[in-house]
Amino acid sequence: MKIAVVGGGPAGLYFAALMKRDNPAHQIRVYERNPRNVTWGFGVVFSDRALEFLRADDEAMFQYLTPHMETWPDLTIVHQDVRVPIDGNGFAAIGRLHLLNLLQAFAEGLGVVVDNGTDIASLADLAEADLIVGADGANSVLRRGNEARFGTTIDVRPNKFIWYGTSKAFDTLTLTFRTNEHGVFCAHHYRYSPDRSTFLVEVDAATWERAGFAEMSEADTIAYCRRVFAADLDGHPILTNNSYWRNFPAIWNERWSFDNVVLIGDALRTAHFSIGSGTRLAMEDAIALFKAFKTEGGSIAVALARFEAIRRPPMEKIYAAARVSFEWYEGMAALMSLAPYELAYRYMTRTGRVEPQVLQRMAPRFFARYQEAKTGTR
Ligand SMILES: Cc1cc2nc3c(=O)[nH]c(=O)nc-3n(C[C@H](O)[C@H](O)[C@H](O)COP(=O)(O)OP(=O)(O)OC[C@H]3O[C@@H](n4cnc5c(N)ncnc54)[C@H](O)[C@@H]3O)c2cc1C
Repeated sequence: MKIAVVGGGPAGLYFAALMKRDNPAHQIRVYERNPRNVTWGFGVVFSDRALEFLRADDEAMFQYLTPHMETWPDLTIVHQDVRVPIDGNGFAAIGRLHLLNLLQAFAEGLGVVVDNGTDIASLADLAEADLIVGADGANSVLRRGNEARFGTTIDVRPNKFIWYGTSKAFDTLTLTFRTNEHGVFCAHHYRYSPDRSTFLVEVDAATWERAGFAEMSEADTIAYCRRVFAADLDGHPILTNNSYWRNFPAIWNERWSFDNVVLIGDALRTAHFSIGSGTRLAMEDAIALFKAFKTEGGSIAVALARFEAIRRPPMEKIYAAARVSFEWYEGMAALMSLAPYELAYRYMTRTGRVEPQVLQRMAPRFFARYQEAKTGTR
């Protein structure tokens, strides 16, 4: 089969590798607009549970990637200058560029051709392919050119976020809330290499307006954020990589394919970074699409229908959980009067998927301290 994959992100590279590893006769070309060694952002994070999917489906890839990851057992919430550790929430992180380079080397080692620096404008550029995979991210050109066929909805959320890095290596995945005269700021930060951390700053729309970010230069924006998070950054610089204020687009498609064209990864659906699983979902999509071809043999139409039938139910649940999660952040100003342990408890139970008994089992030390804080014994 001739397979054209648009987008050399985690979804596209991994799908290409899986297909080629299974059947070296496939001719697979990945078109990636960025040159090699260029991408946006810093590190991405996987929860412990998020890595289990990989171990279950592809032990070799699990063993290939995990030595390059930073790991830690807890999550920390900082509110009103109090650090609240939450046990039982292990995470692993890796630089996005590092992950892409590993995946690209793996795919190329199998014989996948990766065309870096090639920007695909439309389906017409790929007329010769038997299968066309749109793995071209949240702004997917393949999807945008065919929105009616896919039944696309894009819900642009009001909060603003900017994806920075820093040279400070944080101990754990941390959510830090800080307030000033303009409003509330939340940093999502975690180490992804021994001397680098992701430092993502999120604010609600009203705070963003009052702070005057719309008129601020990049240098002034960095200086402002460094002032807000001075106690957390300890004098370390904020680093940029194509960092600018964005609004999160919640993307969904009613139909996942037509003819020989299918969407995977962020092109298909986005899950908010606060549930930390966009990269995992992209890689899971790749596995699910690969398995659909493995089961259905060469029938493209049947394989694409199977992919959607298997993958859609869990995705509907994740999409709903992500919605509750980003709405929680959109309402964070109203939560700032809560005591630190109460805020942490609300955070952990925000999507409704973690019942108190489950939280108690998952994070016994946190749960005990939360109970003490509630009864005033802490
Ligand atoms: C601020 C922020 C923080 C995030 N944090 C996390 C996190 O901590 N953990 C996590 O798991 N996920 C995180 N994500 C989400 C994660 O980055 C995405 O979900 C994931 O990268 C999706 O993978 P993908 O392969 O579908 O798309 P992408 O990674 O977006 O890759 C798409 C690729 O397609 C290329 N491309 C696009 N259009 C074309 C074209 N026309 N022609 C050729 N190439 C094209 C792009 O250059 C890009 O390389 C975050 C996202 C953002 C925005």
